[in-house]
Amino acid sequence: MTDRVVTRFAPSPTGYLHIGGARTALFNWLYARRMGGKMLLRIEDTDRERSTEAAVSAIIEGLHWLGLDADEPPVSQFARAARHREVAEALVAAGKAYYCYASPAELDEMREKAKAEKRPPRYDGRWRDRDPSEAPAGVKPVIRIKAPLDGETVVQDRVQGEVRFPNKDLDDFILLRSDGTPTYMHAVVVDDHDMGVTHIIRGDDHLTNAGRQTLIYRAMDWDVPVFAHIPLIHGADGAKLSKRHGALGVEAYREMGYLPVGLKNYLVRLGWSHGDDEIISPEEMIAWFDIDDVNRGAARFDFAKLDAVNGHWIRASGDAELVDMLMSVREHLPNGAILRSEPDEVVRDRLLRAMPGLKERAKTLVELAESSAYLFAARPLAIEPKAEEILAGGGREVVSGLLPVLEQVADWNAASVEAAVRDYAEQQGLKLGKAAQPLRAALTGKTTSPGVFDVLDVLGRDETLARLREQAA
Ligand code: GLU
Repeated sequence: MTDRVVTRFAPSPTGYLHIGGARTALFNWLYARRMGGKMLLRIEDTDRERSTEAAVSAIIEGLHWLGLDADEPPVSQFARAARHREVAEALVAAGKAYYCYASPAELDEMREKAKAEKRPPRYDGRWRDRDPSEAPAGVKPVIRIKAPLDGETVVQDRVQGEVRFPNKDLDDFILLRSDGTPTYMHAVVVDDHDMGVTHIIRGDDHLTNAGRQTLIYRAMDWDVPVFAHIPLIHGADGAKLSKRHGALGVEAYREMGYLPVGLKNYLVRLGWSHGDDEIISPEEMIAWFDIDDVNRGAARFDFAKLDAVNGHWIRASGDAELVDMLMSVREHLPNGAILRSEPDEVVRDRLLRAMPGLKERAKTLVELAESSAYLFAARPLAIEPKAEEILAGGGREVVSGLLPVLEQVADWNAASVEAAVRDYAEQQGLKLGKAAQPLRAALTGKTTSPGVFDVLDVLGRDETLARLREQAA
């Protein structure tokens, strides 16, 4: 046995990789990186009705997009059914589990009785010590664990602390169903053991399973891994996370224009902190992350914070890198068509020139694409109503006055056009904004844009003058 840390992410492929799952994967991945270990991926696909190949692909693709690839090919839980059966039978052979032939009617009766006595439903152990020769003919048995009848099972959880489960509450639960398929409880333990998992980091909705799972490890005489049950993510209002709050698949976050680095930065802060640091780079996360620093309280998902963090990472990204990102993600963006309005080289070239101005204001790639629209707009330019108000309210006269001034600018760049516009405004007794606003409206069709002199510079002399002539009074 080595001491190397092995974590795992074990999603059920019944839906896409949702945001809570992405955070669980991130914590497992970070802890493995931090400790020089590895993270494995297990697809918990034993529910054949609800598991789909599309969901498996979406999970793997979502992890890849976030840069959280597993260190080995994924393990299918369903494919390991024979091994699950083997372990259950080994437990019977060792006297740690037994065949139970109780009929559905008997189990119903037990449940009803418990209900009447206001007790939680528990299997009463009727086959626990019975001789198998008494087995009714033609009935396929289940395998149940022989759980301790008294005492406690204690889980030392790295996040939740010491958690005690009275053994009488754990009862002789089923390991193998009568059709030979394993229960979730059993399959998880056998897989985690066989995969060499040393640390189980998962949502705290699984905390009660940890007690029962510990019994299986003990019965097999296997090392119990370290458990760390992390708090679930709630909505900004404290309620359980719903779609409205952001309980969406990671592909939805890609479509909303978040960067992997921004989303990871936001997610790592949900339930974990490093002092007051809000902006944490991927390298810092690896260097600082520890499960002991995960908080016990539920984390709250807040889109405004996510936007702020993502905006930071957009500004911090290189111009060429952002152009590449926009081009590669455009098929997923609702307004990605903006980036297809010219041949790719032209789009890339204009984006790159405009990027220093564009990236200052955008919080998402969708906003970045939106604000780049002026670069690709065909004449006659579509003018938004608010921009039209500015042009109609005296703006066209300003544009007409500026046109000959700008036509005189010989060496066209942001500084030279700014100087020309400033001169003109001063001569006319106009505030600079009163000159800049109509220019912006005429050149972009909008009332917000990157700095207007950058717009003139990026559009170039000919396109600028052509757009201004369209609006001149
Ligand atoms: N498949 C379980 C889930 O998606 C996780 C099981 C585990 O982590 O042990 O909730």
